[in-house]
Amino acid sequence: MPENLVLPQEPLEATSPFELRVNLGREVPETDVRSALATGDMGFLHSFTTGSTVDGPGVRIVAWTAGCQWRCRYCHNPDTWTMSNGIPVTIVKATEELRKYRHGLKVMSGGITVSGGEPLLQHLFVMKLLTVAQQMGIHTAIETNGNFGDRLTDEDLKKIDLVLLGMKAWDTERHVHLTGMDPANTRKLAERLAAQKRPIWVRFVLVPGLTDDREDIAKIADFAAALGNVERVDVLPFHQLGKFKWKELHINYSLADVQPPSPEAVQRACTQFRSVGLTVY
Ligand code: SF4
Repeated sequence: MPENLVLPQEPLEATSPFELRVNLGREVPETDVRSALATGDMGFLHSFTTGSTVDGPGVRIVAWTAGCQWRCRYCHNPDTWTMSNGIPVTIVKATEELRKYRHGLKVMSGGITVSGGEPLLQHLFVMKLLTVAQQMGIHTAIETNGNFGDRLTDEDLKKIDLVLLGMKAWDTERHVHLTGMDPANTRKLAERLAAQKRPIWVRFVLVPGLTDDREDIAKIADFAAALGNVERVDVLPFHQLGKFKWKELHINYSLADVQPPSPEAVQRACTQFRSVGLTVY
């Protein structure tokens, strides 16, 4: 990375990932973006948030990366799709940030989770950060759609204590309609993690009319149960907290009129996962 590169002074810490952040990396020349991706010395982060209790065990710091190649219809953070919306952060700065919280994270049995966006778009940066975290004795996790799982070596997988894996739909056509992408790589990563006995938490977003097909859920549940390394399934009811972002970003939002699922529908989905022996939250 060039030494004279001036990075924006935007605060890294956000009160919530629902803060809309755009164009924070737009001043970074394309060549520097490419060099950052090639070395992992710099990453593009939407923000850091602290105190999360839902993104892995204990109380966690979450680094939200910018950049995602999927286009999920229910995405509540479309401002993280574009890498140039993120704050350019050197690995040195990210490490300093982490060091500040290291004692607290240990006391609260927590750790760091790198989410997004899609963290594996910047896998070198992410692995550098998680390697440092592990050296500090901090529990490490990523939340990923799994599409770029093959960028991670087996050595990398050992440095990730937990993978929060988004499983969005089973049927390929449904999955492509929902995300724009095929689910094959997600399942491949799940199988690789299972072979290496690395734990997974499956994250499944329940959207009325889109992901609530009983047969489709049953297939995801059967697949997850057969893996043998799925510690829990989080059934996440669709919500509209990110709706304003789609509007602000002028992106057509096809779910504008969709209501969150009823408590009964959420219970039904949870029961389906439980019925094959999975632990569900
Ligand atoms: S994978 Fe995650 S960040 Fe990417 S579009 Fe889907 S929900 Fe949004």
